[in-house]
Amino acid sequence: MSKKVLWAPWRMEYLQPEEKNDSCVFCELPSKANPREALIVDQGKAVYTVLNKYPYNSGHLMIIPLEHKAALTDLHASVLHALMEGASAAMDALERAFHPDGFNVGLNQGRAAGAGIPAHLHLHVVPRWNGDTNFMPVLSETKSLPQHLLATYDAIKENFHKKA
Ligand SMILES: [Zn+2]
Repeated sequence: MSKKVLWAPWRMEYLQPEEKNDSCVFCELPSKANPREALIVDQGKAVYTVLNKYPYNSGHLMIIPLEHKAALTDLHASVLHALMEGASAAMDALERAFHPDGFNVGLNQGRAAGAGIPAHLHLHVVPRWNGDTNFMPVLSETKSLPQHLLATYDAIKENFHKKA
C-alpha cells in the first residue's frame, strides 16, 4: 500500500471536521480523563498542545488556548506568549522525535481563511520533510490511522520538554 493512498481519506476528513451543535471540541478535549486518548501531548496553564486527528502531515500539532476565543486580538498578551512558547516546545519535540527538514507554523482565523473550527482559535505546527515523501520512516509499518496517531503521539510525548 502506498503512503499516498493511506493519507488521502484523512485529507477528505479534514475538509469536513466534526462539529457538534452546542459544544466546542477544543474546549472539551482537556477535560477528557485520558490525555493519550485526547492526543494531548502537553497541558499548560494558558494553552495545551494536541496532535491533530486530521493532519496535513505526520506530527501535525495544534497549540490551543484554554479560552474559547475566535480572534488573535481577543487574547491576552500572556496567552499570546504561551502560544509561541507552545509552538517552540512543539517544534523542539518534533525535531527530536522525527528530524523534519522544516516547519509550517500558522493560524487560520475565520472560515474564509480555512479554519476548521473558527470559533476557537488555534495555532498549527506542521513538520515538513524535503519532498514530504519520506515522512515517518520509523513508523512506516503502522497500518491504521488510530495506531499511527498513537505511535506518533508516544514519540512526541517522549520528546517533550527535553530541551536542556
Ligand atoms: Zn472552545
